[in-house]
Amino acid sequence: MSSTNTPEKREFQAEVSQVLDIVINSLYTDKEIFVRELVSNASDALEKLRHTQLTEGEVYQSNLDMEIKIEVDEENKTVTIIDHGLGMTREELHENLGTIAHSGSKAFIKALEESQQKESPLIGQFGVGFYSAFMVAEEVRVTTRSWRPEGENLVWISDGKTGYEIEPAEGEVDRGCRIEMKLREDCEEFASDARIKQILENYSSFVSFPIMIGEDRVNKIEAIWRKKKTEVSDEEYNEFYKFSAKAFDEPRYRMHFSSEMPIEINALLFVPAENLELWGMGQMDPGVSLYCKNVLIDDKADGLLPEWLRFLRGVIDSADIPLNISRESMQDSSLVRKLNKVVTKRFLKFLASEAKDDVDKYKEFYGKFSRFLKEGAAVDFDHRESLSKLLRFESSMTEVGELTGFEDYLTRAKDGQDKIYYLTGADRAAIEGGPYLEALKSRGLEVIFFFDTIDEYLLQHLREFDGKQLVSAASSGLELEDDDNIETEGDALSEDDMSLLTEFLTGELGEKIENVSAGKRLVSSPAAVMTPQDGMTAQMRAMMQAMNPDEPLPPLKVDLEINPRHALIHQLSDARENNPELAKLVSVQLLDNALLAAGLLENRNDLVSRGFQLMEEAMKK
Ligand code: ADP
Repeated sequence: MSSTNTPEKREFQAEVSQVLDIVINSLYTDKEIFVRELVSNASDALEKLRHTQLTEGEVYQSNLDMEIKIEVDEENKTVTIIDHGLGMTREELHENLGTIAHSGSKAFIKALEESQQKESPLIGQFGVGFYSAFMVAEEVRVTTRSWRPEGENLVWISDGKTGYEIEPAEGEVDRGCRIEMKLREDCEEFASDARIKQILENYSSFVSFPIMIGEDRVNKIEAIWRKKKTEVSDEEYNEFYKFSAKAFDEPRYRMHFSSEMPIEINALLFVPAENLELWGMGQMDPGVSLYCKNVLIDDKADGLLPEWLRFLRGVIDSADIPLNISRESMQDSSLVRKLNKVVTKRFLKFLASEAKDDVDKYKEFYGKFSRFLKEGAAVDFDHRESLSKLLRFESSMTEVGELTGFEDYLTRAKDGQDKIYYLTGADRAAIEGGPYLEALKSRGLEVIFFFDTIDEYLLQHLREFDGKQLVSAASSGLELEDDDNIETEGDALSEDDMSLLTEFLTGELGEKIENVSAGKRLVSSPAAVMTPQDGMTAQMRAMMQAMNPDEPLPPLKVDLEINPRHALIHQLSDARENNPELAKLVSVQLLDNALLAAGLLENRNDLVSRGFQLMEEAMKK
């Protein structure tokens, strides 16, 4: 730790300057959010101190008041927010108040870049944490002393423009932070006790430490997750969500429950309105805090819930968790594992009933959060079954945009149908235009459509539902019953001609395909390629190529099915005898067309030049 008596000047990290520039110049009307942001930082620092005291034993000045004080100087136009929480060391000042660590602020910058709006109502949707002080202040002084015995008394000073300075603090400094804001001329309205009280009224009831203005205590303390559902209003729930998740949206779902067995739990969980991972922000941190009888144990409790539930926000409180459990030992704790299991199960049950009760609302949720459910169904064996019931998709029996699930699929399945059929593709049109669907459709079999990039990954792990195997309709192992609806009389090639033709095709195409056979499945297409059950689909190959652009892909493994009833196959059979050169050309083109339809054609040049050659042939007199 560097200790010096001369002021240390630094510039802000570029992202901080970007945020500050917007914060300072914003005409944003809800400037008052700075109170909420700073009080919530103070409250975090106090919660963390309480926990540090339990795990570390020794902290500097262990007997200070656990409260948040707000001092308003109407004459000098200053507002000061004081807490005796963790405080900060010199390094922490640089790291926390000179760079951006807070994911909300990162989201803010990102959204801002995307929206290209400089004057932005977006601030209100994100919250810029500590930096919001500069919405109202021309100068901010943070006087601080860390809880660590070796800490220094320091002042951090900035006008929010050029950078900041850190110097030794004069006089006595208590542990914690004292944040003094010299208000800008146009923000002097905040130099008023009454105004600050009014701002605090909205949400301060969730701050679990007394907030004092002078001698007055502004808030009563409530842990709403330990109250009965009937005692909490929708507004209170929503405000609590915003407070605890530092969010500015309204939650999409909330689940509040308590249980005594197998362990005592009070849980209040929220699904946010937006999925920030869809905004390209990288993986979210877990957002459910662990409490023991109202005392915060960990605000980003890793391992408290499965990773695929990282989108949840809220609180799990259990009186059975030892207060001094450390972050490291949490994941090994059998109590935490039990909590994890009970809460996850409850949440999945909750989602299942929501999916039934309000289909449209669930669909909207699914549109934004389905990736997490798919991720869970792929990786989490314990919850795979419940998760797969929550999956939704379009199918050959739904309208465009309408969704169905596996359970509904099975209610429509034919008697004795022991498989669930699916196709993957870029979109619905690509699947419907391909050669694979018709055979199943004409037999009255429903085919699920998977379009999402993560679906391939899901399907590698999710191999069955309710004891029925999931099978690709493009796989060569697919066995279908004879179909009475398909005209088979008369115009199929004779078996002899067929075997001569397959022999010919195997000779011509042998290097490119594994096997040629007469397909029962084709109706209007002359031919189609099928991928073996263990082969790679087009999407998987595209994914591999994207991940390793320089590595050649492993050779394709496909089977070719030809349709003995199709006119083109009849003509090809004739040409094999009468015009073998043309037959060779057509064979290769037939395969390339089939590969193209399957999304598996990797070299298009030959297809095009051969196409021209064939046109020429066709028009020869
Ligand atoms: P966030 O609180 O979301 O992380 P902020 O920009 O508000 O983002 O704060 C950045 C960091 O500064 C906090 O994570 C915390 O480590 C530190 N900090 C802010 N206020 C205080 C405070 N009153 N006491 C101790 N540390 C603080």
